[in-house]
Amino acid sequence: MIYLKLCMVFFSILFASCSAVHKVKVTNELNKNDTLLNHLSYLSSDQLQGRKFGTIGSTLAQDYIIKQLKELNVQPLNSSYLAPFTINGFFKDTVANNIVAFIKGSEFPDQYILLSAHYDHLGKKGSKVFNGADDNASGTSALLYFGKLLKQKPLRYSVILLFTDAEEANLKGAKAFVTNQADLLSSIKLNVNVDMIAGSKSTKYLRYISRGLPQLLNSADIEAFAEVDEDSILKQGFRQQNRRENKNINWNLASDHGVFFKLNIPFIYYGVGTHNNYHQTSDTFENINHEFFSQATNIIYQQLRFIDQKL
Ligand SMILES: [Zn+2]
Repeated sequence: MIYLKLCMVFFSILFASCSAVHKVKVTNELNKNDTLLNHLSYLSSDQLQGRKFGTIGSTLAQDYIIKQLKELNVQPLNSSYLAPFTINGFFKDTVANNIVAFIKGSEFPDQYILLSAHYDHLGKKGSKVFNGADDNASGTSALLYFGKLLKQKPLRYSVILLFTDAEEANLKGAKAFVTNQADLLSSIKLNVNVDMIAGSKSTKYLRYISRGLPQLLNSADIEAFAEVDEDSILKQGFRQQNRRENKNINWNLASDHGVFFKLNIPFIYYGVGTHNNYHQTSDTFENINHEFFSQATNIIYQQLRFIDQKL
């Protein structure tokens, strides 16, 4: 009997340390994560001129994202990483480009969790560059980082990495994706959209909203999902008001997840909400909250793995 008890103690310690090891490894890696911050630093640099669709800065961003994906050996979803679409302008049409990559799932290769983040921003006005460090070089960097971790340890479900263009032009990239990939839509279980997760120096909380989770998880798992928050920075829901513009925000439609929401595809949207640097030239690498960004990226990753296990 005592021998059995000793075995049980031994195995429970072993089991606890295994999952703790993976969690700690991810956290340590994220904490010392030059990669994540290097992505953000380059994507929000003046060189990329605020990454407005159809500009040289946008092309530089595309080249960078594709180079990273190739280095990680993450394949394109289709024959090319680039998925071009046309934006009709008043004077001329502009070609914009989504970037779409794929990581095969270990159990359900034909069903997808779609991770999305827009890489475009406002560009330049006169000589002023809107660097868009938080909006949305942060989400783009996190998606690249998830690509790295998921390539090392794939989920049960296949993952589509969707880097959208022209989100700042009324979600045109996400709309082009659902039009051009209509055949895939019925196999998309969940959209996880990441937009503005680095905040400003005073940011304390990573906020999220979701729609359709009860279609995917039982109530106990939904509760457990909300508790995957080792840094206690997660908050459900966003402040309604955009104080600067003094208007209410419909967060269901505030970023690319809105396109999937309208198609009744369940989504989770992560962001910090609006802040003083929102859509200002002050949204720079220096003004984001570096540590918060790493913690936020870590929690989104942990919740992603949790959901993948429970779906
Ligand atoms: Zn944004």
